[in-house]
Amino acid sequence: MNASDWQQRYEQERAARIEAERRLELRSAELRQANLDLAIQADDLTVEIETTQQEFDAARSRAETLADQTQRIRADLVAANHATFRAERRLWDALEAIQDGFALFGEDDRLIAANRVYTKFLGTLGCTAAPGLAYRAIIDAVAASGAVHDSNGPVAQWRSAMRRWHAEPGYKAHVMQLNGDHWLKLKERRTEDGNTVMLVSDVTEAKRREGELDAARRDAEAANRAKSAFLANMSHEIRTPMNGVVGMADLLAETDLDDDQQLYADTIRSSGEALLVILNDVLDYSKIESGMFELFPEPFDLERAVHDVALLLQPKAREKGVDLLIDYDMFLPAHYIGDGGRLRQVLTNLAGNAVKFTETGFVLIRVVGIEVAAGQQKIHIAIEDSGIGIAADQIEHIFGEFTQADEKITRRFEGTGLGLAISRRLVAMMGGDIWVDSVLGKGSCFGFSVELPLVGDPKLATQAPGLKAGRKLRRALIVDDLQVNRVILERQLGFLGIETTACCSVETALQCLAEARFDVILTDHQMPGQTGIDLARKVRDAGLNLPILLLSSQAGQPAGASEPGLLAGCLRKPVLRRDLCAALDALNGVARAELVRSPPPDTEDAAPTGLHLLIAEDNRTNQLVLARMLDEGGHKLDFANNGREAVDLFATTDFDLVFMDISMPEMDGVEATETIRRFEAARGSDPVPIIALTAHAMAGDGERFLAAGMDRHLSKPLKKASITGLLSDLVRSGRLNGAECSGSLAPPARMARQPSAAAMR
Ligand code: ADP
Repeated sequence: MNASDWQQRYEQERAARIEAERRLELRSAELRQANLDLAIQADDLTVEIETTQQEFDAARSRAETLADQTQRIRADLVAANHATFRAERRLWDALEAIQDGFALFGEDDRLIAANRVYTKFLGTLGCTAAPGLAYRAIIDAVAASGAVHDSNGPVAQWRSAMRRWHAEPGYKAHVMQLNGDHWLKLKERRTEDGNTVMLVSDVTEAKRREGELDAARRDAEAANRAKSAFLANMSHEIRTPMNGVVGMADLLAETDLDDDQQLYADTIRSSGEALLVILNDVLDYSKIESGMFELFPEPFDLERAVHDVALLLQPKAREKGVDLLIDYDMFLPAHYIGDGGRLRQVLTNLAGNAVKFTETGFVLIRVVGIEVAAGQQKIHIAIEDSGIGIAADQIEHIFGEFTQADEKITRRFEGTGLGLAISRRLVAMMGGDIWVDSVLGKGSCFGFSVELPLVGDPKLATQAPGLKAGRKLRRALIVDDLQVNRVILERQLGFLGIETTACCSVETALQCLAEARFDVILTDHQMPGQTGIDLARKVRDAGLNLPILLLSSQAGQPAGASEPGLLAGCLRKPVLRRDLCAALDALNGVARAELVRSPPPDTEDAAPTGLHLLIAEDNRTNQLVLARMLDEGGHKLDFANNGREAVDLFATTDFDLVFMDISMPEMDGVEATETIRRFEAARGSDPVPIIALTAHAMAGDGERFLAAGMDRHLSKPLKKASITGLLSDLVRSGRLNGAECSGSLAPPARMARQPSAAAMR
């Protein structure tokens, strides 16, 4: 082989090698690429595997959670089942434990379930309580058992009544009696889903106890009535002889007695009166306690009531030198509707205490009112005193029963300790309040307020006193040592448009008179040093002739009051607003020179004499007392022992006046009066005045007696003074003729037509 061959071969081999190398290169590149691709794919695959793994993990954890939850729910379900079962068992245990029968009916009125008591109860009536049993079948079974007591009406009626009752919606209860004196109480309630729950209870024991309680209550009420009747009776029984004692002592005191005898007679009288006050308190209290106390609202004059109470207490106040004053609001009407008698009683208790517990100074009754609605006033009455007062720690007990503030102190004063308790109850019954303010050693102020309607009559309702037109009194000089009194008078006169100057003694009054001109002097009577009469004399001595009004708390006429030309008038304290106005009105028409020379208006009219009187009174002693008390008048007296006799006598005889006891056998005073009034109406004659003789127990009935046709009433024990006072009053008011009015020769007009005796029956 030559070189070229070699060369050629070399070249060939080299070319082949290059080719091989190129191919190798190519293959390597392809391999690299393939490796790269493979690596990429491997990466992708790894990611995919990881993702799948994660998804798988998530799915597995979810599955595990779900498995947990399922297990928990299954456990809960088991627990809930247990709880439900327990609750149901408890419920049934409870339903079985109750003594009542329990049953549940479905919407179709068929029994769903019932406890053993119910089942047993139906069993005793021959009815098997099984689910599905119809309500109607139960009622029929009970009806057929003969257990239904007659008190439920005929059985057929009872059956339909029970079905109707069952059909009623809502809650209902029904008590029924079974034979054998058994009582059942049925209760039903419809549930929201239309089922009905029924309870049946045996109330036999409760019914028996109820019956016993009813009987006990009836017994207690009967005993209470008996107690009240006994008390009323006792009161009457005690009062009747007491009336004799007090009346006779009153008469005895008027006879010629030496000092000792006078003392004995006065003591008998005052002890009797004190005993009657206690009796009245106890009686009132027991009436209130037993709920038998009633109020009798009627039109009444409040100002008059306050005034009357003050007049009643005046003698005692005067005896102690205590001034008793009234401050009745000038703007306040006087006429209201209320139980005037009971209001007076409260007022008498409070003002009586004030006088009792005050040794010096004053007792002031102040009345004010505010309008709370049209025609309705809230009246405040305060009783202020300058007495011993009440310690702070006693005040809260003061309105309690049988309470006396300080035994040591109050033992000096008589009393039952019931007055305030009764007053509190009375005021509460009137719908009002009562209170007290007090400072030990300084004084007390007891007050109460009640709402009262004004009387319908607008004339009376709005009537506030005022002066009539006439010559005007412009300036008044007020003389009184007591400041409260001066203030009251200043206010009252100010309201009437009169300018006032007030002074506290005769000296200062004379000084005022020297300095200024006055149209009138209003002077107190009893003042320290010099009296009102002394002042009047000095005024006249000084040549002044202005009118002087004397205000005195003395019962009769003060010495010197009737001296000619001295006084223009004498007013009895406490002064009613209308009396003050009337006295000032009288001055308005009086010229200064012609001062009143006649006795002051306070003097009493003489009592009428020679009357023909019918006295209806069953008690002999009282007849005697009345006869003696009327002795001086020279009257002709006819007695009737009861209402019937009084009526018969009245039909045949002509009387000027009748005294009518209320409690009498056969026919009482009210019926007798009504019969007499019918008789008078039938024959067309004028009504003869009839005076009721009442006991305190009937205090609230005053209006009832007036309604029956009586003119007035006098409370027992009777007093000569009140009888003669009443007779004079009747003469003054024109209801009775004056002296020697009977023994009439000519037949009086009222006898003109005689009715038949039958009209009296
Ligand atoms: P009594 O019949 O004893 O007066 P009350 O119930 O009326 O009974 O009064 C109870 C007590 O209240 C009295 O005993 C007295 O201690 C006290 N008391 C009542 N009013 C007054 C007063 N104005 N001043 C001082 N104490 C009074």
